[in-house]
Amino acid sequence: MPKSAAALLNFIDASPSPWHAAHSIASQLRGHGFEQLSESADWSLNTNGRYYAVRDDSSIIAFIVGRQTPAEHGFKIVGAHTDSPGLRVKPQPWLSGDGYARVALDVYGGPILASFTDRDLGLAGRLVYQQTDGSLVNSLIDFKRAMLRLPNLAIHLNRAVNEDGLKLNKQTELAGILGLNANQQLNADHFTHLLAEHVQASVEQILSWELAVYDVQPGNLWGAEQEFIADGQLDNLASCHAGLTALLAEAGAKADATRVCAFFDHEEVGSNSAKGASGSFLGDVLQRITLSSGGQGVDWQRALAHSFIISADMAHAYHPNYPGAYEPNHKVFVNQGPVIKINANQHYATDCQTEAQFIAYCREAEVPFQKYAHRGDLACGSTIGPLCATRLGIRTVDVGAPMWAMHSLRESAGALDHKYMIQVLRRFFSA
Ligand code: ZN
Repeated sequence: MPKSAAALLNFIDASPSPWHAAHSIASQLRGHGFEQLSESADWSLNTNGRYYAVRDDSSIIAFIVGRQTPAEHGFKIVGAHTDSPGLRVKPQPWLSGDGYARVALDVYGGPILASFTDRDLGLAGRLVYQQTDGSLVNSLIDFKRAMLRLPNLAIHLNRAVNEDGLKLNKQTELAGILGLNANQQLNADHFTHLLAEHVQASVEQILSWELAVYDVQPGNLWGAEQEFIADGQLDNLASCHAGLTALLAEAGAKADATRVCAFFDHEEVGSNSAKGASGSFLGDVLQRITLSSGGQGVDWQRALAHSFIISADMAHAYHPNYPGAYEPNHKVFVNQGPVIKINANQHYATDCQTEAQFIAYCREAEVPFQKYAHRGDLACGSTIGPLCATRLGIRTVDVGAPMWAMHSLRESAGALDHKYMIQVLRRFFSA
């Protein structure tokens, strides 16, 4: 197995929620000499300086200040998202009756709900509690064990499941079983108590939380030659990991442009939030870098005009069991290299010039590439690419590694493709 695939699986397993993903990314950055900047502080940046900023715990932008000013050489940006679709714990989740305690779950984004049944479901996220002096503490939390389960109905009680598919009602059939409660001995405080234990606080001190459901099974290799990988959140932690690994590997390169990794939360719910890709975060950071370099007047616009975004998000690999789902001339295959995503209606931001530039990077990095277009009679997904391009006017290409089962709790992809993606992103960041 390429070492990069093993590193990816470790990264995902350490990042069970978008808040943990930003935390994992920040730890790696600090290990490579990056300094955290607070958005509320004044920034004074040094040439070749390594910095990062985090907005609301789950969007993170890292950058290395270039040798030349942004007005002259612009920004080289790799964009991706930290969130994955799935299930989230409701604010008042306690359900009790019929001898069981259950936890009510909400749907976040567009997961394949059936893939959450019969799996070992952990809980991870963040919570806020109040200390005795009145101050509020924000803390990451991860149970690191199976806490919940959504058992299927037996086929004897759901005879049509193989003909009709597994359908789950989002209000009534998505309560995770937490435990036994035959004598109603447990009440709603019990769930809060489980959270409070983690931060050594009392139930009264816990004020609020955001908790995601994840699969506690670690990532693994599969296939006759172990040529495939399987894990949760490949969409899109694989792209975050590829971008971050490339930036860290090339951090010492003498680059004129300021190199940036921008990873956003909330992509799976449309990106419209203070920290989402449609928000001000990326523009704010780039503008502050430009000002810090002495930029004034039209230098900001000049910087954007010199810039380039590689929007990295996963792509749909051809699935031989479902040939009819794909555009026959645009099948892309696992372990055959990064996919350039093209859509005439701008669901992807790629145009023929940014496509050509990415192909040139692939050739220089000796990495194969593929081109994808969605079926004309099927609604096409989108990425942060068109949003960042719209907001900032930066030339953008949409690319990604091919994968199967996008938005399943257990996705799969090629072990080699991750290495290819890192290679081409390293080429992008190498000068
Ligand atoms: Zn995605």
